[in-house]
Amino acid sequence: MIEKRPTILIVDDSPANIQALAQLLAGDYQVKVAKDGLRCLELASADSEIDLILLDIEMPEMTGYEVCAKLKANSATENIPVIFITGKNAIEDEVYGFELGAIDYITKPFQPIIVEARVKTHVTIKRQSDTLERMALRDHLTDLYNRHYLMDIAPKKIANAQRHKNPLSLVVLDIDHFKNINDQYGHDFGDEVLIGFSRLLEEFCRKEDVVARFGGEEFVLIIDHCDAASCVAKMKRLCADIEKLKPNGITVTSSFGVTSLQEKDTGFDELFNRADSAVYTAKADGRNCVRLQE
Ligand code: GH3
Ligand code: MG
Ligand code: MG
Ligand code: MG
Repeated sequence: MIEKRPTILIVDDSPANIQALAQLLAGDYQVKVAKDGLRCLELASADSEIDLILLDIEMPEMTGYEVCAKLKANSATENIPVIFITGKNAIEDEVYGFELGAIDYITKPFQPIIVEARVKTHVTIKRQSDTLERMALRDHLTDLYNRHYLMDIAPKKIANAQRHKNPLSLVVLDIDHFKNINDQYGHDFGDEVLIGFSRLLEEFCRKEDVVARFGGEEFVLIIDHCDAASCVAKMKRLCADIEKLKPNGITVTSSFGVTSLQEKDTGFDELFNRADSAVYTAKADGRNCVRLQE
C-alpha cells in the first residue's frame, strides 16, 4: 500500500505568510490553508486526514489561542498536533501556547530548515501514534474493531441508550461450519473468507454501528436506534446477502442471535449472553437463520 503524503493545515491571516509556508512544505506534504480561525475549525472537524496544524496567533476575529483551545476541546480534533507559528516571542506567550495544548511553538521570522525539521518530527510522531491506536483497537486480520474496543465502547453505548430511552440491539453472528472451510481449502483461504465476510458486514452496517470481531469466526454488532423487530428484519437481509456473497467463490452462511436492550439490563454481559444463546438456537434450527431472544 502506498502511504499517502501527510496533510498539513496552514492557518494565517497573512497571504504572504501562507505562501511562504506552503512553498516550504508543498514538496513533502499535502498542504491545506485557512485564512481565519473559523475556517480552520471547519476544515479540521470535516477532514479526519489532517496530520498537523501550523497556527498563527494574531488574527482578527478569533486568535490562534482561541482556535487551539477549541480544537483541543473537541474529541474529533483534539488529537491533531498544533504548532504555533507566530511573531509573539515573549516567554509567557509561548508558555500559554503550551498550556493550551500545542506541541510546539515557532517564532517568526522563522528559519525554514527549523520549520521543516519540527514539522517532520511531529508528523512522524502523529503517524506512529495513529498506527498504535489502530493496532490497539482493530483486529489485525479483518481490520474490524477488536474485542478490546468492543468491551470499551459497549457499556458506553448501552448507558447512552438507557439514558435517552433509545432502542439498541445487539447481534452475535457465527459463521456456519467454518472448520470445514479450513479443512477443505486451507487456513489461508479461510482467512480470505473472513476478510471478505468482514467487508460485507462493514458495508451493510451504518457508520455509527459497532462491527467487531469477537474472536475466531464470531462477530458482534451493536446497532443503535433499532428495536428487536427491526433488527431481526435487518439481519434477515444480511443473512441473505452473506449467502449470496460467495467470498473466494464458495458459499458461506452464518447464524444470527439477536437481542435488544431492556430496562432491567445492567450491562454488556446480559445482552451478549442472550444473543449468544439465540445463536445456539439458530444453529440447532439448521443454521443460516436469525433467532431472537428477548
Ligand atoms: P458451527 O457452524 O457450529 O459454528 O461450526 P464451525 O465449524 O464454524 O465452528 P467451530 O467452533 O467448530 O470451528 C471454528 C473454526 O474457526 C475453527 C478455527 O480453526 C477457525 N478459525 C478461527 N479463527 C480463525 C482465523 O483467524 N482464520 C481461519 N482461517 N480460521 C479460523
Ligand atoms: Mg497574523
Ligand atoms: Mg462457526
Ligand atoms: Mg464459533
